[in-house]
Amino acid sequence: MLGKISEKEARLQVSKSFPWCPFCCFENIKIDVQPERDHDFILCENCGAKWEMAIQEKVKSIKLTATSIDWKGKELLEKNLTSKFWRDKAWLCILTRKVPENHS
Ligand SMILES: [Zn+2]
Repeated sequence: MLGKISEKEARLQVSKSFPWCPFCCFENIKIDVQPERDHDFILCENCGAKWEMAIQEKVKSIKLTATSIDWKGKELLEKNLTSKFWRDKAWLCILTRKVPENHS
């Protein structure tokens, strides 16, 4: 399709913005990119969060369309946000993750 980068390139770009889920830090994010579609999708199989993205020569915007099962991100629903926004949020997830205490 004219104007749209390849599926491989799109996946590469998305995986940089979504190294893991920005809500639950789960690493196996499902990236659903099809060359013939206008919009592609990202799904976290752990918490159920779902995004829709507009891809042309690059990933233009990423919009949250479903929150996690515990409603994380409800204030961000249906907003077109940059990939940088989501990347920063993913890093914040790791930095603020509650690690079970294990002092033995
Ligand atoms: Zn998640």
